[in-house]
Amino acid sequence: MQVAESPYLHGFFNGLRPDPRLTVSEWSDQKRMLPAKAAKEAGRWRTKRTPYLKEIMDALSPSSSVEKCIFMKGAQIGGTECGNNWLGYVIDHVPAPMMYVLPTLDLAKRTSKQRIAPMIEEMPSLREKVRDPRSRDSGNTTLTKEFPNGVLVFTGSNSGAGLRSMPARFLFMDEIDAYEDDVDDEGSPINLAIKRTATFSRNRKIFLVSTPKIAGSSKIEAAYEESDKRRYHVPCLGCNYFQTITWQHIKFDNSDPSTARFECRKCNHRHYEKDKPKLLAKGKWIAEFPEKSHKVAGFHLSALYSPNGWYSWENAVEDFLSAKKNPVELKDWTNTVLGETWQEKGETVEHILLYQRNRPFKDVFQSLKS
Ligand SMILES: [Zn+2]
Repeated sequence: MQVAESPYLHGFFNGLRPDPRLTVSEWSDQKRMLPAKAAKEAGRWRTKRTPYLKEIMDALSPSSSVEKCIFMKGAQIGGTECGNNWLGYVIDHVPAPMMYVLPTLDLAKRTSKQRIAPMIEEMPSLREKVRDPRSRDSGNTTLTKEFPNGVLVFTGSNSGAGLRSMPARFLFMDEIDAYEDDVDDEGSPINLAIKRTATFSRNRKIFLVSTPKIAGSSKIEAAYEESDKRRYHVPCLGCNYFQTITWQHIKFDNSDPSTARFECRKCNHRHYEKDKPKLLAKGKWIAEFPEKSHKVAGFHLSALYSPNGWYSWENAVEDFLSAKKNPVELKDWTNTVLGETWQEKGETVEHILLYQRNRPFKDVFQSLKS
């Protein structure tokens, strides 16, 4: 059969029957394998390990009305794998042109080789669609992965040519706070990439992810501020009061990290590391501005939500105690643990200038929502 031999036609016929209801989290639970080389926990993906990622992944599913998903985050919470799950889902389930933008071209190459290639290799459903780059005429290089009815292109925010290369229905922009402010004198690389999704304005998805850096100039903070601003609330195991896990309520005694716990802001009930799975499982995202556009969903999550065995409250206190006297370390701790921007002292004027420079970016957001 000639027809079955062409991966494009094969994919086309398969593509006639995708289940539109299957979400990214369901797909991940069914199919995603974490490669031993690249992941913290190798083996089968389980959404219940990081339950807060479910709503984010599902916002990236075609069945959701969300068009732009913003994830402002700390480290050690599975943010990268969340993006990888989406990528695998697109290749396997909703094939289309997809662009994956990293801060630099070098980083894009490294990500493709070290994270994405092992993921494709590990999963039969992806392996059979993305042909081995070593075979001739496979259509695949480090920066381009072709698959039936779609293509995944990796590029860097420092490459105007890469950002202009093709229209994309799915746009994944990772670590955007490390992006260039301006590329090839054409302005923000974020805006440039978003323009490439215009042809798919009815069914596009844009995913902006980053650990934040400096207050005022942070791109992810600016994007999050324009969203409905969701935060993950967990119920106190003493009084059931729903609240966020914030640094203010992580308590410890006598500079001893081993006494770290999360105290309820209402009844002072003490939660220890062992209580985390229950807290996370019962948690829910609550938007500060639910009345804002249903097309733009913003999620904020700190490393204080990191599941057991990854990064504990004890680790957070330990790192805080060792960083607190050094502004550079404390800045890093604030960004990566709290997922918050760092306010530089005495630089208000510069911040205002940086803020101004960000305006066109904010205007684009405004126009997307209206
Ligand atoms: Zn309580």
